[in-house]
Amino acid sequence: MRQDVSGLVKKLDVEKVSRLLDIPLHRITGALKRKTLQYVRGKPELFRFDKPVSHVDGGTAVFIEPFDVVRGFPKISRTLMLYPAVSRHFSSCRKVAVEEKMNGYNARVALIGDEILGLTRGGFVCPYTTEKARDLIAKDFFLDHPDLVLCGEMVGPDSPYVPKSFYDIESLEFFAFDVREKITGKPMPVMERRALMGEYGIKSVRLFGEFDVIEAHIEITRIIKELGSAMHEGVVIKDPEMSVPPVKYTSSQSNCADLRYAFELYNDFGRDFFFGRVCREAFQSVEWGEDEETLGERCLQLGESILLPMIKTIKKKKAGERIAENVQIRVKSLDTVTEFQEYLRLLGVDAVFEEPQKMGIEYLVRIKRINHSTNDKTEAILGGQMWS
Ligand code: ATP
Ligand code: MG
Repeated sequence: MRQDVSGLVKKLDVEKVSRLLDIPLHRITGALKRKTLQYVRGKPELFRFDKPVSHVDGGTAVFIEPFDVVRGFPKISRTLMLYPAVSRHFSSCRKVAVEEKMNGYNARVALIGDEILGLTRGGFVCPYTTEKARDLIAKDFFLDHPDLVLCGEMVGPDSPYVPKSFYDIESLEFFAFDVREKITGKPMPVMERRALMGEYGIKSVRLFGEFDVIEAHIEITRIIKELGSAMHEGVVIKDPEMSVPPVKYTSSQSNCADLRYAFELYNDFGRDFFFGRVCREAFQSVEWGEDEETLGERCLQLGESILLPMIKTIKKKKAGERIAENVQIRVKSLDTVTEFQEYLRLLGVDAVFEEPQKMGIEYLVRIKRINHSTNDKTEAILGGQMWS
């Protein structure tokens, strides 16, 4: 869908954006027309890149008043075969740093004007993430480093975007895994970043160590097996200098946990979601040279993770229940609840908020997200409609 951009061009200093992000002017106006670069109304108003444009990542946010840019968080490639991929991808490095990949949601926290804001991966300012960021991160950091953005994972049970948490976290915590320049997106070397976080009392994701590239796969295999048995997700392997882009690798247990969750809502997920996860299991099994018994166990885990949740959904629907996803948030201010509700409406998410429950100085709000596609499809098939 194309839109008339003359009003938007007035709002956004396109020449400045073109210069700062090094994108030709016509590509910016083209992106505005195609809504790849979208205007987002709200407090504060901004433009966000819905998809990458030229070399600029999707999720990049351009603020209008005051003018500022927070670059999107880049996609991280995934390896399915540790040894060949790590040695090839990091061939120009002597060592790699291995950090835990935590399973929460990606948040970027930055100072815009004199306000700390929390952005989601897509480049929206999320009112909930913003309240949490202000609570969890000392403003000192931004006063000393206004040109930096903190990238990290928001992890814990009080997460509106991730329904289950396997960490020993009471509410929601922020774990930094990257510090970047706001405007260029240039990342800081791993150890320098971790030391800087330490100085300001900001938590970092766990570091397993720095390993020689040629034998990193041995250490990582051991780490992954250990993480998997604790239901943790996996690792991100990084060039200590952050010149070569990072690579992710995950445990079979977390892969199956994703599948169990997604198959309950089977029609609300893209088919790629499922296919990629089956491939991961196959390559991991081959790389680890599994014997028949271990392979049998893997097959059983994978099969159960696919079928059991889907059967549960069908039975639920058959019993007349509605398929929904339960999440919760915990806030200090009830205004955040209202703002978050408006924010989800803006995103087109159908969510039902329960009455806030007072818990000390905070409020717990349970939220039901309705998965229409799975509800409708299951009901239709139960009613005799053809699959296709
Ligand atoms: P991508 O867009 O990179 O493919 P995705 O949305 O499919 O990502 P994931 O598979 O979870 O997400 O992998 C990338 C995400 O992992 C990052 O966006 C980040 O939020 C998260 N993450 C957790 N721990 C780390 C870490 N230590 N280093 C970098 N990213 C991490
Ligand atoms: Mg993730």
